[in-house]
Amino acid sequence: MTTTALYAVLGNPVEHSKSPRIHALFAQQCRQDLRYERRLIEIGAFEAGVTAFRAAGGRGCNVTVPFKFDAARAARRLSPRAARAGAANTIGWDPDGTPWGDNTDGIGLVRDLARILGRPVDGLLRGHTILMLGAGGAAAGVLGALIDAGATEIAIWNRTTERAHDLVARTRAFANSRDCLLRSSVLAKDEHHDLVINATASSLGGQTIDLPPGLLGPGVLAYDLMYAPAPTGFVAKAREYGAHAADGLGMLVEQAAESFRLWRGVAPDTAPVLATLEAELRTAPSPGRVD
Ligand code: NAP
Repeated sequence: MTTTALYAVLGNPVEHSKSPRIHALFAQQCRQDLRYERRLIEIGAFEAGVTAFRAAGGRGCNVTVPFKFDAARAARRLSPRAARAGAANTIGWDPDGTPWGDNTDGIGLVRDLARILGRPVDGLLRGHTILMLGAGGAAAGVLGALIDAGATEIAIWNRTTERAHDLVARTRAFANSRDCLLRSSVLAKDEHHDLVINATASSLGGQTIDLPPGLLGPGVLAYDLMYAPAPTGFVAKAREYGAHAADGLGMLVEQAAESFRLWRGVAPDTAPVLATLEAELRTAPSPGRVD
């Protein structure tokens, strides 16, 4: 009888996900006996997909676009960060079979920002102002962690304005409790922020957002949650204007490491795994997509 534990990423689409590769590298490094696969779930059939995965022996799963809100609803117990986001990217089961949900996207982003800035995670964003583009599942997932990291002010812009207002309204009490000014943004000409995060899926379609001049420039860190073999449109534009820019590959590895720790009780060393992924991805012929 095999003792190999089964994990998976559930999403639609899911075929380009790097998660199986990342978790295979973690398992090798940490000497864990596990298998991690991709599972394509039909739109509207998330609960059935999770149930089938569990019935097949699944011990835990990551959840990607577009199911992170469904995942939070499917879990019977949510971590505070997943409850705050209303979205989960990690599911596991208690010994009695109760499904729990967590969201590791936020801590993944903050740990990658700490790596880029060369500073500790604690108080990383103290005194910083942030513009976040997007108000979907990823934006909701990372917002609490940005507030926890000490951001002074976070402005949220979204193509569909109503969704930005909703996200601000849902999170305002938590932001207030951490002395963070949380507001919607209309991308005014005179806005300045230390950090501009692209949490939209615009780069996925090769589109760029029309940002006012001056928003991206020297002294600004621009971070695109999406990653690709070549610089995304957002990263390319930020670099052209003199900002320091990075894409979301590091976040992808960090959020995966936190999921791995939750499931297996051991925290992998992310640096060598990110180096391997960088080497593999940047020479890859096809576009990457993120989890
Ligand atoms: P989502 O829930 O589907 O939300 C999509 C967001 O992108 C919405 O705010 C949407 O605005 C906006 N958007 C889509 N196309 C746009 C365009 N052409 N111009 C401007 N805004 C546009 O997706 P998500 O889960 O938030 O994911 C967002 C991005 O983050 C994706 O690229 C995803 O792959 C990436 N991500 C990366 C990681 C990582 O580990 N690196 C983790 C999670 C997500 P509307 O509300 O107006 O539709």
